[in-house]
Amino acid sequence: MDELYVRLEKQVPALRLQIAQLYQSFDRKFHLHGASVPVTFGMEQDVLGSYTPAGGSEEEHFHFSLLYVASYEERPVSNEDRLDVFRHEYAHYMQYNMPVPAEYTWQKGKHGSAWKYCCSLTGAVPTEFYRAGETLKKQDYEKALKNPWKGTMTPVLDTFRRETEYQRQKNSRVVFAQGETVLHPKFGEGVIQKIDPKEGSVILHIQFRDKIRKIDQKWLNRTRYKSARGI
Ligand SMILES: [Zn+2]
Repeated sequence: MDELYVRLEKQVPALRLQIAQLYQSFDRKFHLHGASVPVTFGMEQDVLGSYTPAGGSEEEHFHFSLLYVASYEERPVSNEDRLDVFRHEYAHYMQYNMPVPAEYTWQKGKHGSAWKYCCSLTGAVPTEFYRAGETLKKQDYEKALKNPWKGTMTPVLDTFRRETEYQRQKNSRVVFAQGETVLHPKFGEGVIQKIDPKEGSVILHIQFRDKIRKIDQKWLNRTRYKSARGI
């Protein structure tokens, strides 16, 4: 994970530039100041991005997970998907910093009609969950604004986070066994000593030749680790 962080962190300047350019263009259009709001980055697995408004215990800022907005071998991110995360969070910023016409305030909630209205202005996909490929479809904002959300997914209850429930559950399922030998392209063969299931991830303690490393099983899948038993 640390190694991945070092790799992804290198993309931060380019990401900052992309965000600044996008938000400046929105600012000009909507007479706002989103581009001057601080942007931070992390390595969250269950949150793509977030906007924290001013006035709470935290300072106003945007936050993005490099695992989703940076691009890397194991998980190439399309520019459209990345831009959608930025547009999505800017729409949240707009909700708090711009008067929304009364006719669009009928549906409450963080991802309610006011936010969807802002999405129609930024071009963000008006759903709270990330779905790959969704950005390529033409969005029917009129429909989204008039009809209550009828999706089968449960709405998220937290205030400022966009979560990937499906991915989260998938990532929590243990797919390796203790004592199993895994092969890593760089560290070589290792034996799983301990399995540490967490919310949204499963951390494996793997004894490699030199030392024990803690690696999220999702990277084992993605980095094409192979089980020595041939599973
Ligand atoms: Zn959101």
